[in-house]
Amino acid sequence: MDDIDRDSDIYELMLTIQIERVRLCVSNESSSHLCIECNAPIPAKRRQILPGVSLCIECQTLREVSR
Ligand SMILES: [Zn+2]
Repeated sequence: MDDIDRDSDIYELMLTIQIERVRLCVSNESSSHLCIECNAPIPAKRRQILPGVSLCIECQTLREVSR
């Protein structure tokens, strides 16, 4: 019986950690204002349309062309 209680505690802990990780990840993405490729500022409007976007228009276009 004790084992079952411990397992559910661990499960809840894991769940909490996962939720926290996702939350941190999302907040990092939304605060990223610079392109990860060339460090050019990403316009606010672009970030609004594409939440979590990490490339400027030029780098995104280059990526799509090279695909
Ligand atoms: Zn760029």
